This record gives sequence, structure tokens and C-alpha cells, in this order.
Amino acid sequence: MLAIVALLILSADVSFLSANPEGFRSQDFTHKRRLMVEHQIRRRGVTDRATLTAMETVPRHEFVPARARAAAYRDGPLPIGYGQTISQPYIVAYMTELLRVNAADKVLEVGTGSGYQAAVLGEIVREVRTIEIIPELGKNARQRLERLGYENVHVKIADGYHGWPEHGPYDGIIVTAAAEHIPPPLIRQLKDGGRMVIPVGHPFFVQNLVLVEKKNGKVTTENLLPVAFVPFTRSR
Ligand code: SAH
Repeated sequence: MLAIVALLILSADVSFLSANPEGFRSQDFTHKRRLMVEHQIRRRGVTDRATLTAMETVPRHEFVPARARAAAYRDGPLPIGYGQTISQPYIVAYMTELLRVNAADKVLEVGTGSGYQAAVLGEIVREVRTIEIIPELGKNARQRLERLGYENVHVKIADGYHGWPEHGPYDGIIVTAAAEHIPPPLIRQLKDGGRMVIPVGHPFFVQNLVLVEKKNGKVTTENLLPVAFVPFTRSR
């Protein structure tokens, strides 16, 4: 009897005992990611090749809490702790495409969160600077990005309102928390000819995704679509 039980245990699937507790295989995620890009992103009108390739490459499941891994490629935002969320894949792709950045460019992100958006940008541009105000999230994101090999992505823990002037100006700036106004330091750190994408509006109320362009020193803004982001907070 004992021998039979032992045999049963030996022949059972023990993949759940490995470092990958849910027993997912990386091919499953690769497949899910392809479907995500096709159904949620390409079919909704994102055409930029570099953006689509980046979305197909970055392992989104590595950026969500372990218990949410099965949901990582779903068509929506997911909680990442500390009351914050990782944005819906489509929104990440849409904002990335809007920046119109390329391999030679330098980008600033405000609102590192999990580090996912920064990794997507890191696949496309030369250098990404990203700022997070919650120290634990910033530290986790830094470690995660390092582990996944994103050497061109640099995380700073600070209030992103002030930007990161030492490394500016930037070809593109992306803000992933909703601000009540566009922080003037970020406008100053945007290169001439550069683009900034930022959700503007009251927290927990209607916000607009705004495209800011600087051309010959002139700044113009355009409202693109209603969005719902977590609030842009300020350090006291
Ligand atoms: N881009 C992230 C998701 C961002 S959620 C990702 O891909 O996962 C928004 C993040 O902005 C939160 O982590 C929040 O703590 C951060 N945030 C809010 N206000 C900020 C500020 N003033 N400076 C820097 N980060 C801020």
C-alpha cells in the first residue's frame, strides 16, 4: 500500500514545487502575449512596429504580483500593491506609440509602478529614466528590471513633479499618474520637437490623456481620450 502511494506521488505532476509555483510554462505566456498584441492592441489600431514588437517581448507576467500571474495578459489594469495599478496593455501600447520615439532617443517616465511601461520603452529607446514616489515600489521595480536585463532603464525614488533635470532634456516624457496640471518642470525638460503624454484631471474623476508638443519653443496641447489613472501624489 505504501509503495503504491509513493509511486502515485512520483508520477504526479510536481511542477508546482518548482520556482514557478503556478506550474506555468514560459511558452504559455509567449502564446498569451501574442494573443494580447493581436486582439487588444493591433486590432484597436496601434500600428507602430517597434511598439508592437516591444509589447510582444516584455514578459508582463513578471511585473504583476505572483498571485495575479494568470491574469497578467488580461484586457485591463491589475493591482500591484500600495493602492497602485499596472495599466491596461492597450493603454501602455497606445501611450508608447504616441511618443513617436526611436532607438536613438532618451525618455523620462513619471510613475514607475511595476516598471512595466519603462521596460516596454527600454526595448525601443537608448535610455529610460523613470521616477517613483513610493520607495517600496521603486526598489522592487529597480530589482526586477535589473534581473530581467534592462540595463538602459534607471529608476529614481523621488517626487516626479520635478522631473530628472540632470539627464534631460528628453525626446519623450510619459506620465502614468493623473495630474491636475502639467508640471512646468516637465515641460522645461522636454526637447524641442519632443512629445509628452500625460493624463490630466481630478483624481477618481474624469481625466483626459493629453499630448503635449514643443515646436520652435512653442507648446501646444491636445486632448486625446478619457482615461482613469491613479492620482499623481506630491511629497510633503
Ligand atoms: N507605469 C506603471 C504604472 C503606474 S501606476 C507600470 O507600468 O506599472 C502610477 C504610479 O505613479 C504609482 O506607482 C504611483 O506611486 C506613482 N506616482 C504617483 N505620483 C507620483 C509622483 N509625484 N512622482 C513619481 N511617481 C508618482
